[in-house]
Amino acid sequence: MSLPLRELLESGARELGVTLSPSSVDRMLLFMMELRKWNRKINLTAISTERGIVIKHLLDSLTVVPHLSQGARCLDLGSGGGFPAIPLALARPDLKLTSVDATLKKIHFQRHAARLLGLTNLEALHARGEALAGSHGNGFDVVLSRAFSSLPEFVSLARPLLALGGVIIAMKGKSGGDEALEAAPFFEERGLVVSEVVRFRLPASGDERSLVVIRTV
Ligand code: SAH
Repeated sequence: MSLPLRELLESGARELGVTLSPSSVDRMLLFMMELRKWNRKINLTAISTERGIVIKHLLDSLTVVPHLSQGARCLDLGSGGGFPAIPLALARPDLKLTSVDATLKKIHFQRHAARLLGLTNLEALHARGEALAGSHGNGFDVVLSRAFSSLPEFVSLARPLLALGGVIIAMKGKSGGDEALEAAPFFEERGLVVSEVVRFRLPASGDERSLVVIRTV
């Protein structure tokens, strides 16, 4: 028999090395319900079952948590329905998240969700990544994306937004390692290096995922 949703979320997070407070779990499940509600009217995600959202959106978003330093200023580029930004903001109140998407209705949903969930560490901006350079002081400690674009495209957008010593993290499927190898010459020409490719499987579904971590040389 499959686990109830709450246990699926809690035990999956634990498997990923993430401890969720009871309030974070409550609010993640509330977010899941709100996403399903809005998804009937506006297209936010192709994944529509409760279990699918818990595993492939909430838990998948949390896979990056162990790579985010305490208090980091994080930018989520092309965050769509709020992934990974909203689960990260819920799991890690210490982080300061900026979530950006070029589609206004998606940002409206994220702002609505942030109000509903009482999130004070998330700012949702309607903008194109290209227009952001110079808008956030000395930049972000971490620029993230999930299911956004090719590595070279993402990194070209992310690079000007990085603070000194910052990292770029692309959340990818199983081909992240191959993509990183292919893009290595592109990175090298620009003074960047892939510092780590983390391969793992999602809890419960076993789907293969990877994180590609890129730094300046
Ligand atoms: N990260 C989310 C959404 C991925 S879909 C998830 O994993 O579920 C990619 C999103 O990027 C879309 O919502 C699209 O509107 C947005 N997008 C595409 N190009 C963009 C750009 N140049 N700047 C900001 N957002 C962009």
